[in-house]
Amino acid sequence: MDQSTEAPPASLAALVPGTVTLVGGGPGDPGLLTVAGLRALEQADVVLVDHLAPQESLAHCRPDCEQIWVGKLPRGEFVPQERINELLVEHARAGRRVVRFKGGDNFVFGRGGEEWQACAQAGIAVRVIPGVTSSVAAPALAGIPVTHRSLVQGFTVVSGHVPPGDERSQLDWSALARTRTTLVVLMGVKYLPEITRELRAAGMAADTPVAVIAQAGHPQMRQVRGPLDQIAELAQDVRPPAVTVIGEVAGLQLG
Ligand code: SAH
Repeated sequence: MDQSTEAPPASLAALVPGTVTLVGGGPGDPGLLTVAGLRALEQADVVLVDHLAPQESLAHCRPDCEQIWVGKLPRGEFVPQERINELLVEHARAGRRVVRFKGGDNFVFGRGGEEWQACAQAGIAVRVIPGVTSSVAAPALAGIPVTHRSLVQGFTVVSGHVPPGDERSQLDWSALARTRTTLVVLMGVKYLPEITRELRAAGMAADTPVAVIAQAGHPQMRQVRGPLDQIAELAQDVRPPAVTVIGEVAGLQLG
């Protein structure tokens, strides 16, 4: 087939005025933003930026591009999600090319689905440019493959933002302890003691390897490794953002 007659991939096409593009920024290093994501930033009239998105990449925006900070505010508060949704709709209605720029991938604990729904309800067209999610990239940057042929045939990504047993938790931690997949926990720094205790109680071996990888893709990146029954103590001074990898792959030394 004559390739010139093929439409370009949707993610690389020009941004359309009056629409919203959800752009995944990757885990932090500007080099891990996709080419399509970079092109979207270059074209944007307005960008709503999250605190985990790679800030350096904003240098690619046009000088007249309006940048709206909707990440953590100085007092630790966040712009409420409803307000973010309103801003996306308002700017798109004004005919602008709107980019929602987040860390990692917008559809992995990034509220991208909610933002899409809010725009759709307002009659605004949305599309998504996938990002490199920290759930895979943070382990990778630490030299940990989330799957490894001889060891594990899958990985499971969960949120640890509420502790096991909490009424807001939808997870079955004892089932997670038995999946025989690599367990990747995001937002799990605060409740690492509770999570590891729960997995132990569900029968996961005390010596199961665990790695906690913080600030992946940033110059301050660090990792702490240890067995399941000691990792909470070993990693007690680790601050978010961090990804926790639980399973045999966390004990691998590839080289
Ligand atoms: N959409 C993001 C995840 C947002 S939830 C993604 O796909 O990566 C926020 C959590 O992501 C953090 O609490 C942490 O667990 C993880 N995270 C994001 N950036 C990270 C980084 N640079 N290093 C380690 N963990 C990171």
